Amino acid sequence: MNIQKIVVIGSCNTDMVVKTERLPVPGETVLGNSFMMNPGGKGANQAVAIARLGGDVTFITKTGNDLFGRQSIERYREENINTDYICSDHNLPSGVALIMVDIQGENCIVVAPGANATLNPQDIDKAKDIIEQADILLMQLEIPMRTVEYSAKLAFQRGTKVILNPAPATFLSDDLFKYLYAIIPNKTEAEMLSGIKVSDFKSAKQAADIIASKGTNIVVITLGSEGAFIKEGNEYNLIKAEKVKAVDTTGAGDTFCGAFSVAISEGLSIVEAVKMANKASAITVTRPGAQSSIPYRKELLSKDSII
Ligand code: ADP
Repeated sequence: MNIQKIVVIGSCNTDMVVKTERLPVPGETVLGNSFMMNPGGKGANQAVAIARLGGDVTFITKTGNDLFGRQSIERYREENINTDYICSDHNLPSGVALIMVDIQGENCIVVAPGANATLNPQDIDKAKDIIEQADILLMQLEIPMRTVEYSAKLAFQRGTKVILNPAPATFLSDDLFKYLYAIIPNKTEAEMLSGIKVSDFKSAKQAADIIASKGTNIVVITLGSEGAFIKEGNEYNLIKAEKVKAVDTTGAGDTFCGAFSVAISEGLSIVEAVKMANKASAITVTRPGAQSSIPYRKELLSKDSII
């Protein structure tokens, strides 16, 4: 099999999670229970998903000059991610997310993007050669928008397929759509981009048509436990999710985008890529955590597997 190169440009964070009986109200201190530090950030999660699912991945991100950043890079290397193009900002901390979770699973999160906020076009210029050699560039929106736009244009001009996961939900410039090979929003993001509330096949089709009309041929809207809706040119498809018992859906979208990119890098069709992505993300939701729940390729290989 001819495995093509994938570049991910995106965020990396360290999630600091405290479990507590109940969340404090403003001004209050409560005594919590366990504390855990988990690697996170949409960019990092998607790079890890690609590596575990057998893709050849280079991750471009920015860490601070601190322990969290160094630990993250170490971890990416252990995952077989190429870290040669990771930059560091000497004046800012690495990105962190402070997360409190109560016994009902309700949470309260503050993200301090730190160095992620200064990943800029000059950093991308230093990675021009690897972007040019890559077949696929996968991005999300936890880094500055101008860097996403700059990278998309650069990759497009060099013939690299650009896949955008427009998360977290925000508005996009009309120009950006023209550089995209595919866009993968979830329901909330699709609503933000189209103005259509996505609840069934008909509304997903309407939303996908509006999004595609901005200049992107392939629109894949992820529908949680319903699966994913595909618009590819004038063809529409709903690919049902795998039936599983979900325990924690964190990381589902990131696994989906990573798996989709791996499948495209292996030459699979869009429908086959979505089937593989549904399968991988269904495994993710059966386990707690984000990066820790992302499956390895061998876990996808069952008798009825298409891959
Ligand atoms: P996000 O995590 O970005 O909000 P979704 O909730 O749409 O994205 O989930 C992404 C993908 O994960 C879905 O398209 C589906 O393949 C899979 N998925 C999510 N929730 C479930 C579930 N309860 N059962 C099976 N698959 C799921």
